[in-house]
Amino acid sequence: MLRQASITEEQFTTDTEKARGISLKIEGISKIFSGRTQDVEALRPVDLEIKAGEFVCLVGPSGCGKSTLLSIIAGLETASSGAVWAGGQRVTGPGTDRVLLFQEAALFPWLDVQSNIEFGLRQAGIPSSRRVEIAQHFIKLVHLQGFERSYIHQLSGGMRQRAAIARALAIDPVVLLMDEPFGALDEFTRDKLQAELETIWRETGKTIVFVTHNVREAVALGDRVVVFAPRPGRIIRDFPIRLPRPRSLEDHALVDQAADILAALTDAMEEQQEVVYGQKY
Ligand code: ADP
Ligand code: MG
Repeated sequence: MLRQASITEEQFTTDTEKARGISLKIEGISKIFSGRTQDVEALRPVDLEIKAGEFVCLVGPSGCGKSTLLSIIAGLETASSGAVWAGGQRVTGPGTDRVLLFQEAALFPWLDVQSNIEFGLRQAGIPSSRRVEIAQHFIKLVHLQGFERSYIHQLSGGMRQRAAIARALAIDPVVLLMDEPFGALDEFTRDKLQAELETIWRETGKTIVFVTHNVREAVALGDRVVVFAPRPGRIIRDFPIRLPRPRSLEDHALVDQAADILAALTDAMEEQQEVVYGQKY
């Protein structure tokens, strides 16, 4: 799903398809959700610096605040403390520099692929001929040629995600925030989309923050894999991934690296269990 604020025509006429990634600085971000009976500490102060054009994967079991952190970076959720800086500017709300994509590609069912991709451009007042040109460029980039006039219900899950990625890229954000975008896809489609996303990232130079609970997917895609633990949500490790690209999921070095990360994650979970156990009995 794509959420965006309004964009200006200028943004397109000056640097269309060319805006490269910007840095992100997450500084002491915490989040407490106040409930009726109790508060949930979704994030205990998190610090994270992401370089311009870096591909960073966030992994961890459910409930460790990954989605919350992405929403805060997107400016859709406010933090309880701390600040997010995007390209040196403090984030105070949503902006077209940052776009958030979810597992369920929430495209408009009443529009075909082409019109879905053109939607944000139309809102920005981009003239029709230019809209078509930009949409065509991204349709090609995500390999959806021939499906321009298909409606969303006529597409497979993988094609929907491709369309959602094209729609996100069409508005030329500099940061892509992706929340388990391939989590609902079959393995074959997921492998294919991972490879395509890597190519797009290489060609566009966007900064990508990619959430997954699939450790191998994280190692296949990330320059870094940042590991979260739950209750309270926090960062426990930050693994640089220096394997050459493109990476194969079957590669031994990749499998070994994934095993190390999984072990760190399992240790953290076990410590957590002991804490819970100790408190309860
Ligand atoms: P993740 O994406 O890692 O699974 P989330 O960021 O979705 O984790 O959630 C972190 C914690 O915050 C969980 O315990 C979740 O139940 C809680 N939480 C998330 N959103 C809300 C909300 N809107 N209101 C109350 N609690 C929430
Ligand atoms: Mg989540």
